[in-house]
Amino acid sequence: MNNNEMKVEFLSKSVNEGFARAVVSSFVSQLDPTIEELSDIKTAVSEAVTNSIIHAYPNVEGKIFVKGKLIGNEVEIEISDNGIGIENIEKAKEPLFTTKGNLERSGMGFAIMENFMDELNIESILGLGTKISMKKKIKKYLFEDNKYSN
Ligand code: ATP
Ligand code: MG
Repeated sequence: MNNNEMKVEFLSKSVNEGFARAVVSSFVSQLDPTIEELSDIKTAVSEAVTNSIIHAYPNVEGKIFVKGKLIGNEVEIEISDNGIGIENIEKAKEPLFTTKGNLERSGMGFAIMENFMDELNIESILGLGTKISMKKKIKKYLFEDNKYSN
């Protein structure tokens, strides 16, 4: 069984959103994902990291932590920050809910993460920070059986 882990931390600067995508993307490549699977994972990572950059640390710079774990053909990604935290997680998960309404945010980040990954788990403590865990199975095409494994 394949079993491997990664861990990076970086500052909440907007350029680092691309860094996080690139790191996770090359880590997950070990599982030989399809272009679509990889793109789903990169999109989910972007949404979570962008949230930490703009919501967790609104007027300051702080640290963002990204961990990855491969368990067999499943990838688990954890994105966490030590920012302001989320007041109401159930509400935050609702599509179109945003605390930055009048500007450019559309309130779709968590809905996208939930859709593009198999599992999404949000833990948050006001004033302490937020941890997002996501899982996705990478399906391998089995040429002998002419089908995708799960
Ligand atoms: P969009 O993602 O479409 O640009 P959004 O970021 O407001 O808009 P979501 O990503 O779904 O939408 O997040 C919903 C709300 O949850 C945010 O408006 C914010 O209030 C809160 N939130 C999300 N992530 C964090 C975080 N890491 N720290 C603090 N608050 C957060
Ligand atoms: Mg968002």
